[in-house]
Amino acid sequence: MKSKSGKFKQFGISLQENLVSIQPAILAGIFMLVATITVTVVFYPQGDASGRLILILYGIFGSLYLGFYYYLYTTSPNKSFFAWVNAVFAGLALGTITFFVPKEFHYLFYSLLFIANLTTSVISSRGPAYFLTLCVTAFHIIQHLQDPIPPSEWIIHAGLTISALVGVEVIQQLKNLSQKQIKRLEILNEVSRQIVSTLEKKQILTLLNAAFQNVLEADTYYIGTLEEGDEIHLQLFYDDGEYFDNMRVKKEGTLSGWVIDHQQELFLSDLRNQAVALEGVNYVLMGKSKGSLSWMGVPVKGAHANGVMVIASYHHNAFNQSDLELLNNIAQRAALALDNAHHHAMVQEEARLDSLTRVLNHGHFIKSLREKAEECALNNHPLSLIMLDIDYFKEYNDTYGHQVGDEILVRLCNFIRENVKIEDVVGRWGGEEFAVVLPNTDSAQAMQVAERIQKSMERFKLQTQRMGSITAPTVSQGIAIFPNETNDVSKLIDLADSRLYTAKERGRNQIESAPSFPQTSD
Ligand code: GH3
Ligand code: MG
Ligand code: MG
Repeated sequence: MKSKSGKFKQFGISLQENLVSIQPAILAGIFMLVATITVTVVFYPQGDASGRLILILYGIFGSLYLGFYYYLYTTSPNKSFFAWVNAVFAGLALGTITFFVPKEFHYLFYSLLFIANLTTSVISSRGPAYFLTLCVTAFHIIQHLQDPIPPSEWIIHAGLTISALVGVEVIQQLKNLSQKQIKRLEILNEVSRQIVSTLEKKQILTLLNAAFQNVLEADTYYIGTLEEGDEIHLQLFYDDGEYFDNMRVKKEGTLSGWVIDHQQELFLSDLRNQAVALEGVNYVLMGKSKGSLSWMGVPVKGAHANGVMVIASYHHNAFNQSDLELLNNIAQRAALALDNAHHHAMVQEEARLDSLTRVLNHGHFIKSLREKAEECALNNHPLSLIMLDIDYFKEYNDTYGHQVGDEILVRLCNFIRENVKIEDVVGRWGGEEFAVVLPNTDSAQAMQVAERIQKSMERFKLQTQRMGSITAPTVSQGIAIFPNETNDVSKLIDLADSRLYTAKERGRNQIESAPSFPQTSD
């Protein structure tokens, strides 16, 4: 992870944080060395002169070194190199001193080794700390082989060395844990930032996918949303290196269904004996034929989002509580992001529709017509355009009032929608004029659709409170075919419009069809 200054942070922990952690050890080291000087001067005034001098000089230089440790550490350009130099230096200083001072002082150097080990372990990885311990131990062993000690003392020395190494290990483990945690928080932060500012559902899912892959070592993960008919739609389903598209599973009896029903997280460390304990849950195999052993799922609940986020592994005990916490955090943000996306999609959809009839407005209808025409041209399929206008609608409005007129517009659009396919597009051209795009539809098929609409209007009687049953107005229609008649969409519109005009001329409630063309092959 790069910090702002462009330098790599060590294990995600900043320099200042490292310094705070080693502060007590440095102070303790200085205290020990000052105490050594004091003890040597005060309690051994008549001891071996050279030994005393060495100890006093050792204490002075040692405390000076520790006093400047901060400065040396912060200014060294390569922290890892500094850690190694420091380890070599401290190893030699703490190891060789045993040859010059009385035995009763030897334990002092173990305490100093302990302190040096802790600081080295904090500022670097295992290597320098292990080197330091082994270096000091080796000197002590050599010294004691030359000047033998009883077996009980060997045990004490071994115990002190082992505790120094254990100290290193504990610090490294804690560092690993905090490093993991920091990495997770950074990713969580990044994911939250990205998904909350994303308004496209697909992009949100892609970002979540990246988050899963970065943070959690899972064989399987998915986000499922509850759909009508009590099915869970697996929007993003990854299993054993493969993606499965748009899978659906029944909610009933599944672990995911349990999470959605209870709105509770579920953490199973070994599915072989835990799943059966959940009422109404069966063991359902999804994706690959391999079954998961570890499984955790959390609800994804927002104003519009209702689903589940699941992570599973083929191994038992693959996850821990902090993984679950992380999943919960991601799920909460995902729910928020999915709600935002839903809201955005609704606003966009609203902007595309005519507010009265809920068919496409003029601008979006033309856009859609161009897209469909392009698709049909690519596939060498015909496309029909029907233009449709209510007959004598001004009179109708004058007779029955605008509200009844509005109701007729709504009903007409419903009839059109009922008589066309889902891929067909209906739009309000303006006023009481509508248009329908029928992709992959030839002249004869378009004529049938137009006739069905015509019949629906002829048969329709509007029930009103004030005026009872009112006959609906008729409609006139004109049809044009793309690309047989023209491959220019603007001309296609003009052609359908002029045929509509011809239909009106012919006395209204008429359909002016397009000529038939031989079927185009694929
Ligand atoms: P034609 O058969 O030649 O199409 O006659 P028409 O009366 O339908 O045509 P004209 O263009 O003269 O009048 C269209 C009418 O449609 C005028 C207007 O009152 C009505 N109209 C347009 N938009 C709406 C609407 O949103 N609601 C209602 N109630 N009426 C509308
Ligand atoms: Mg009209
Ligand atoms: Mg009109």
